Amino acid sequence: MKDKLKDKAKHIVEELKREYPDALCSLESENPVELLIATRLSAQCTDARVNIVTRELFARYKTIEDYAVADIAELEAIVRPCGFYKVKAQNIRDMCRMLLSDFGGEVPDNMDDLLKLPGVGRKTANLILGDVYKRPAIVADTHAIRISNLLGLCNSKDPVKVEMQLKSSVEPSEQSDLCHRFVLHGRAVCVARRPKCGVCVLAPYCDYVNQA
Ligand code: SF4
Repeated sequence: MKDKLKDKAKHIVEELKREYPDALCSLESENPVELLIATRLSAQCTDARVNIVTRELFARYKTIEDYAVADIAELEAIVRPCGFYKVKAQNIRDMCRMLLSDFGGEVPDNMDDLLKLPGVGRKTANLILGDVYKRPAIVADTHAIRISNLLGLCNSKDPVKVEMQLKSSVEPSEQSDLCHRFVLHGRAVCVARRPKCGVCVLAPYCDYVNQA
């Protein structure tokens, strides 16, 4: 069973690699701190909207120190379009303060320390580990959860379970890119509530379409 799943995952990885050669994160950033902040803002918000907001935010604040001493009302006003702006602004300032006080101004390179940062959960931590530090990492976001369940790679909606199940079937070196490709595929083809199975390269490996 485990080997079958690994084999299936391998085919899915290969198909998606062909379909989306560039597995880029859709959040725009120029350094690890900016990626951390953009990811925090992306909770309950689209990446497109986050990218509009971060253009202004990153132009206004250049360093971790800038965020650490930011006027909270000003920070709130800029991030307001992303929703939950009060807690997001507070988290951004507090995480930058902690980066300075506890981590020498560097974004940590391990899960335990990343999870200590205010507002950082496993999804954000895995994005940093995969994109910044090129470690095996599964970002169990809405696309990864939905598509991997449709495909039959996972059988849970719980993000931690999905992360663990994908980790056990997907090659470590492919994990981070696969999640970016799930996002691209989820926007282009496997769209929520109206998946375009007739044109999907994953159809031969997909439980949803083959059990229908
Ligand atoms: S075959 Fe349909 S349900 Fe399966 S991954 Fe493709 S679009 Fe999604």
